[in-house]
Amino acid sequence: MLTEPQIQRYARQLLLRDVGERGQEALGAVLVELALPDEVAAAAAAYLRAGGTEVHGLALSDAPWAWTPPLLEAAPQRRLHVVAAPTVPERAAVVVGSDAGRAVLWSLGESGCRACLADGVRGLGPPDVGAAVQTGSLVALLVQRRALGLASPIEGLALSEGGAISTLAARPCPHRPPAVPEAVLRALLIHLASALPDEGCAVLVGRDDDVRLVPVENAQATHHARDPEAFPRTARTAFSLDPRAWLGLLREVDRTGERVLAIAHSHPDGGTHFSGEDRRSAAPDGLPLLPGVAHLVVAFSGGRPGAARWALWSDGDFLEMDCPLPSGS
Ligand SMILES: [Zn+2]
Ligand SMILES: [Zn+2]
Repeated sequence: MLTEPQIQRYARQLLLRDVGERGQEALGAVLVELALPDEVAAAAAAYLRAGGTEVHGLALSDAPWAWTPPLLEAAPQRRLHVVAAPTVPERAAVVVGSDAGRAVLWSLGESGCRACLADGVRGLGPPDVGAAVQTGSLVALLVQRRALGLASPIEGLALSEGGAISTLAARPCPHRPPAVPEAVLRALLIHLASALPDEGCAVLVGRDDDVRLVPVENAQATHHARDPEAFPRTARTAFSLDPRAWLGLLREVDRTGERVLAIAHSHPDGGTHFSGEDRRSAAPDGLPLLPGVAHLVVAFSGGRPGAARWALWSDGDFLEMDCPLPSGS
């Protein structure tokens, strides 16, 4: 519930159909971390704080209005990072850059594709401080749209030198991880759990929307026992798809017209990060061994699946994105 002074202060935007009291609370529940040139950060902070959103990461600014405290004293529930191009952030964030005199801003939500964001950010220079106030207002606009749940998974704005604002359309995403049905995900989690405390592995194959699980044995223990020098890691911290099963599977998908969509493995006590070792084995010389095949890492903790992330090859590197797990798994 908003207090009387809060209602007074935010009276104008409370009347907006897309804000209202709920929306005002949502604006107060976001904490924005600004990593931008001082001038742009100060302008963005002024707009955001005036709107009821708290801001961190502001260097000392001589613009006193940037220090308006937000009246809404809600404990921020979500953090949103605002970074300067050419940084491609790890998660939901706003990126601010410039391109031939234009200010270009991209906003990415939790479900947005990082590879598409990287495509949008590629080639952008750092923000131009010449149009700091307008750029700062667009930062606030994109943050507020995200806070209010009005934003698309990825959206962009450009501000011309003349001050005209245009929306930037993200093209259809070519980096989507395979759409794995919940039942297949559940079966995958059960298979990976059965390998604990070792890493488990599996392959997802399919055709169009028809995805199926092929559980594969982790051959790392056998490799390690046979040749500990070439395979120094045990199955506790590494996996290798059983080579015979893998070759058999490739023959099978050739015959059935399916495709290998993804290789999944577990980290029994680790995070979901596609590790250096994972990267080296998936792309030994900086080129993917299996172009077009996604990788899925499922992190277990205390014997239960905690979280999962995709790693998809895009333009020279693996980009990671969250894979929501079925509830109650
Ligand atoms: Zn994409
Ligand atoms: Zn791994």
